[in-house]
Amino acid sequence: MSRSYISARLRQRVTERAHFRCEYCQTQELIIGMPLEVEHIVPKTAGGETDEGNLCLACPRCNCHKGMQTEAVDNVTGHSVSLYHPRQQNWHDHFAWQDNGLVIAGLTSVGRATINALQMNNPYVRRSRELWIENGWHPPN
Ligand SMILES: [Zn+2]
Repeated sequence: MSRSYISARLRQRVTERAHFRCEYCQTQELIIGMPLEVEHIVPKTAGGETDEGNLCLACPRCNCHKGMQTEAVDNVTGHSVSLYHPRQQNWHDHFAWQDNGLVIAGLTSVGRATINALQMNNPYVRRSRELWIENGWHPPN
């Protein structure tokens, strides 16, 4: 959630690389009626740089819940682990869609901790996902 300067060109590269989807919850920019945000994976306050290797595209909800966090507790193991890192890890290694895309399941400690910290299955997004699924817009390919 840093307010550091990100050029329009860099913002465009990050957005296109992410295929206009939140790199955490996979929400698509086209169907939420607002632009996705370029987020520092490692916050600037923790030494994160403003470069492509530390930037990802996030929906406002995930970005807000993530804030300055870099780790969270996995409720299954009780251990604190690093949050999912979109540049260094593969989404499908840590997450999977359940119930035709209604819910994101955590496959690993990293996945579960990230889902909890970012509230990736909150009731509001689940209601939206129901509509997106009915219309064939979700989950993204
Ligand atoms: Zn998101």
